[in-house]
Amino acid sequence: MKRRDFVRTAVTGALAAGALAGCGEQSVSSTGQSTASRKQQRFNWKIATTWPPNFPIFHDGVARFAAEVGKMSGERLNIQVFAGGELIPPLQTFDAVSQGQIEMGHGAAYYWAGKVPAGQFFTAVPFGMNAQGMNAWLYSGGGIDLWHEIYKPYGLVAFPMGNTGVQMGGWFRKEINSLADLKGLKMRIPGLGGKVMAKAGVNPVLMAGGEIYTALERGTIDATEWVGPFHDLRLGLYRAAKHYYYPGWHEPGPTLELSINRKAWASLPEDLQLIVQNAAMASNLWMLSEFEAKNLEALHTLKDKHHVDIREFPAEVIQQLHSLTLEVLKEEAARDDTFARVWQAYQSFQQSNDAWGQISEQAYARARQG
Ligand code: CA
Repeated sequence: MKRRDFVRTAVTGALAAGALAGCGEQSVSSTGQSTASRKQQRFNWKIATTWPPNFPIFHDGVARFAAEVGKMSGERLNIQVFAGGELIPPLQTFDAVSQGQIEMGHGAAYYWAGKVPAGQFFTAVPFGMNAQGMNAWLYSGGGIDLWHEIYKPYGLVAFPMGNTGVQMGGWFRKEINSLADLKGLKMRIPGLGGKVMAKAGVNPVLMAGGEIYTALERGTIDATEWVGPFHDLRLGLYRAAKHYYYPGWHEPGPTLELSINRKAWASLPEDLQLIVQNAAMASNLWMLSEFEAKNLEALHTLKDKHHVDIREFPAEVIQQLHSLTLEVLKEEAARDDTFARVWQAYQSFQQSNDAWGQISEQAYARARQG
């Protein structure tokens, strides 16, 4: 603990102890309010997302979260939901929550990679952990604590809230038979995956989900990744590109984030904080379950109804992208100490997770294939 933090904690503690002595048996929080008065306090908050209006699963998951928090708190915490662009431009929610313009945001930490490069580990790492591994790291391997630590300078806390499972590799107008076929393409692909693609000669661009179809259809971009069959069908991407590649090597289990303004978070009584944390955890699981349940049917629709060409990336392309990923991670780590520290923690957890996976998930998958 830094000395200044220690002094502040000590002073607050002394004030609380003094107030407690003056109030007899009534418990008093560190802000000096009685527990009873804090329990009656109502909070009216806003959450802005990065997603298109009424978008299934992503927006639904946030709406469910807000409704459940309202019900579980006896309407003491009401959260009004705004889709991307309704209140805040989709890719500006980080600043809006950080500055306290709104209390909460929903998106993905890699959207803010320009501000917080280390945040990308809390969304997805190419060839990194899947949803199960990410949840294990975040909830049980110290990931959330690390996330809070790197978001502290921005006045934010964050919790996992949503996961898509393994994504698709993306939509391309032309076939990708070698790494050379990627050269010169302009592709919508965020985060570390975008940096890896840049090494392969791609010009990666970041744009919110609501802008992708028009950009691809007009030829502003030549290729895009978004999520997987269920969501990509919904965006109509099959109308603008014909080849749909798998697997999503760049996003094997991306975690979505619930970001919360730190001061607003601190103003909530403990029971409301617990309600928010548990509702976020429920939504995290609900979104992943929805994708797992709905992706295959959507894939069949894309293939049979819309005649999409669905194919696997050539093994050689995947191997080369894997090598480029290591180069990118090393370069980013050399540039940013926080990135290096979070990578070390992520990598160490992934190694243990992989070692266990060898004799659990992977051995089981082999056993089932007979
Ligand atoms: Ca994606």
